[in-house]
Amino acid sequence: MKISEIVEATGGTLLCGNLNDEVNSFSHDTRTIKQGDMYIPIIGEVFDGHQFINQAFEKGASSIITSLPMSDDTHNIILVKDTHQALGDMARWVRINSHAKVIGITGSVGKTSTKDMIYSVVSTRYKALKTIGNYNNDIGLPQTILRYQDEEVMVIEMGMNHLKEIDYLTHIALPDIAVITNVGTAHIGEVGSREKILEAKMEITHGLNENGLLIVNGDNDLLQTIKEDHFLLETIGIDNPASLNAYDICLEETRSTFMIDYHNQPYQVTVNVPGKHFVYNALISIQTGLALSIDIKDCIRGVACFELTKNRADMIETAQHVRIYDGTYNANVDSMKASIDVLSQHKDRKIAVLGDMLELGDYEERLHREVGTYLSDQNIDITLTVGKGAYYIYDEVIKAGKKAYHFANNKKLIDYLKNIIHPNDVVLIKGSNGMYLKEVVKSLEENI
Ligand code: ATP
Ligand code: MG
Repeated sequence: MKISEIVEATGGTLLCGNLNDEVNSFSHDTRTIKQGDMYIPIIGEVFDGHQFINQAFEKGASSIITSLPMSDDTHNIILVKDTHQALGDMARWVRINSHAKVIGITGSVGKTSTKDMIYSVVSTRYKALKTIGNYNNDIGLPQTILRYQDEEVMVIEMGMNHLKEIDYLTHIALPDIAVITNVGTAHIGEVGSREKILEAKMEITHGLNENGLLIVNGDNDLLQTIKEDHFLLETIGIDNPASLNAYDICLEETRSTFMIDYHNQPYQVTVNVPGKHFVYNALISIQTGLALSIDIKDCIRGVACFELTKNRADMIETAQHVRIYDGTYNANVDSMKASIDVLSQHKDRKIAVLGDMLELGDYEERLHREVGTYLSDQNIDITLTVGKGAYYIYDEVIKAGKKAYHFANNKKLIDYLKNIIHPNDVVLIKGSNGMYLKEVVKSLEENI
């Protein structure tokens, strides 16, 4: 972007520097600043990024945006009211002036996985840009769009904790295609009810272009209720008739295969990641690819070769051939159930190690019990739990007459687990990030 364009996009004032200079890379973090970058100080809860402006200059930043008036002889300095807002305004400007098709992805769970799979499909035909990792909030999303370098498609993840957050993001990204993977119970503590969560996810349509396309999972009870509006609607599904259905599904330990029909022709699809939830993600990715005029065979090829972002359902094998599913990055009811499904596909002894799903507010007991009941109906040999909420999982499993043990902390759980574990066991370790179950994974990796 030219400095003049940044001034125009943000409504800011150039305090010093040259309107004709150009900036190609932006950062709000001085640790990643490179020569010639623009530094955007953000005021956070702990730090005010303005404190690090000199550090940014020392590392070679040529330009800054600031809400504190300042001036010098060597840098481009643009004064704005609010740097956070300016970041969004710049990204919106880049999006509006791009010729890219934008795909926006939200949902209670499966956003990152679906984003990566859609990117894999889209990349079979187009030059594409995607959200790195999980940079899906009001800082990460604008930074993703500011990386735009003439790509033909941008695949953008949008996350939320509260109402109005997706509304903000979608007005920056202005998607041509919006995807809602599902509406579950993640963040129900803050948002209030599942209906409110649906409302929050549907905010993605506020930024959809006129005649844009919304793609949703038609097997989700709440997403089923959506009607076409200023946008077109397409659905995918397994259990209910949809625009694109999967049938003859074969769920294996490490992958799934299924059939789809397209223009009255049957096609087989392979997903190299286990679990029914990835069948849904694959259907969404194919539907998105078709909407971008990608050949059906390329869509299927893109699904088959997609790469999972690190820490999502990763399988680790230890020296003694214990297989671990590391789900310690996050947890909510839907991802817990999906992971339990994947574990239950295995033939060897199956151990579920589960910690709390956090941020559930008043729903804490009910939703942990729901996971406990679900788990009791699956073919899991031993369940180990830790945490206040996970106690309710334990309680349901015990009530169902199955083997379960509850622990006061991770250390006690690790000691017990190390004692009972055998070679060839398959272990799922899952809980919210704040439960630090990563230390259970680490301990098994190092000692077993
Ligand atoms: P976050 O809110 O942290 O950004 P996310 O929505 O991006 O999460 P992922 O990181 O893709 O979700 O997946 C989280 C977990 O849910 C993983 O264990 C993954 O295997 C599982 N998962 C992926 N897709 C689905 C789906 N469609 N339904 C249920 N679970 C899923
Ligand atoms: Mg994510």
